[in-house]
Amino acid sequence: MSDPVDFYAAFADLTPAQRAAWSDLQAVMAELGPTLDAAWLAGTFPLEAIPPLGAFVQEHLGPYSWPPADPWLMGLVKLELGRTDPSMASFFAVHWGLTMSCIAAFGSDDQRAQWLPRMSRFEAIGSFALSEPLVGSDAARGLRCTATPTDGGWELSGQKKWAGNATLADVLVILARGPEGEVLGFLLEPGTPGLHISRIEDKIAKRSVENVVITLDRCVIPEAARLPGLHHFKQVAATLGVGRFAVAWEATGIAMGAYEAALRYTRSREQFGRPIAGFQLVQDKLVRMLSEITAMQCLLAQLTRLAAEGKLDASRAALAKLTCAGGMRRVVALAREVLGGNGILVEHGVAKLFADAEAVYSYEGTQEMNTLIVGRAITGIAAFV
Ligand SMILES: Cc1cc2nc3c(=O)[nH]c(=O)nc-3n(C[C@H](O)[C@H](O)[C@H](O)COP(=O)(O)OP(=O)(O)OC[C@H]3O[C@@H](n4cnc5c(N)ncnc54)[C@H](O)[C@@H]3O)c2cc1C
Repeated sequence: MSDPVDFYAAFADLTPAQRAAWSDLQAVMAELGPTLDAAWLAGTFPLEAIPPLGAFVQEHLGPYSWPPADPWLMGLVKLELGRTDPSMASFFAVHWGLTMSCIAAFGSDDQRAQWLPRMSRFEAIGSFALSEPLVGSDAARGLRCTATPTDGGWELSGQKKWAGNATLADVLVILARGPEGEVLGFLLEPGTPGLHISRIEDKIAKRSVENVVITLDRCVIPEAARLPGLHHFKQVAATLGVGRFAVAWEATGIAMGAYEAALRYTRSREQFGRPIAGFQLVQDKLVRMLSEITAMQCLLAQLTRLAAEGKLDASRAALAKLTCAGGMRRVVALAREVLGGNGILVEHGVAKLFADAEAVYSYEGTQEMNTLIVGRAITGIAAFV
């Protein structure tokens, strides 16, 4: 009989080591479950989750590399974090993906030596600030935050918005526009004069991720804080492209988690003297969820094979992100629906995923931006403006 959660055996080719890592992460997340739900409801980051996640990464992910040396393993990590607590998927993605990849790709030897070993062990945490209050999708050409050369360094001015992990970060990657209009990157540490970080309150999604507004008030930093290898937005876009691949896995994990909870619930919840899973209209919804998820899993399996061959490019990642995020949104809505009123209660395992899906739908490129990236790839015509 087919696995009701992996119906087409999309994950059949996982190696024993990949399966063992997945199962270890499932155990870590099960243990943390109540803490993570409480943190989500409180809207605060659960610091106690960092050591076990760091220990897992140390044991299974090996030396840092981006793109990931084992894209299956990276995908499974994002899938499992999405399936159980999408806020932790964001924490991991911002730290391990966006921040560390910028330091690894664009940093000096000294910057890499200073940060990457400790960040690999989760002893230092990273944050990544590209988006701004007035600039999101248009970041490639619209950044307003400026970097002006001074004697021996730079002065940063402007604002950044969102930047996950910023309240707990030891290092922040800040992207700003240089004097020639080029995009430059800087490493800032908390406490730098002129750097002000304030939390965004009252989010309805990804509540445990502490998103922020960063104000750079004539923030003067030395030349040594600049990422010397970063000169153009296209270089950042390459990093974001791999990030979108990872977000497609996260979206699939969220859909799987919501569907599993819905399946469990509909088998045990009785109305009219029988489990609601026995009603045709409920089965229709369960099958529609499975259909979406199976398509997403098969897409990811093939894209991950391509990634392992070094054939993951920006348009393939964008198609995966938009397809999986769209499917995820439909699945979590159906899952919430079949739980009836209990669908809005965190304790039943769908509400948190339902809410968090809204953030996943919009970050790492909205549906429209990813559509335009794929549209440009297949027509040769950029239609962004
Ligand atoms: C929970 C969360 C965490 C985040 N974490 C980070 C982070 O760690 N670091 C960071 O730098 N950023 C982060 N972001 C920001 C995220 O990347 C942006 O929200 C995203 O890029 C979209 O930008 P925007 O929200 O400003 O929307 P806008 O760009 O203002 O878009 C609004 C709407 O207009 C549409 N639109 C815009 N331009 C076009 C066009 N040309 N054609 C058609 N439609 C268009 C969009 O698709 C969207 O539907 C985060 C966001 C969230 C919600």
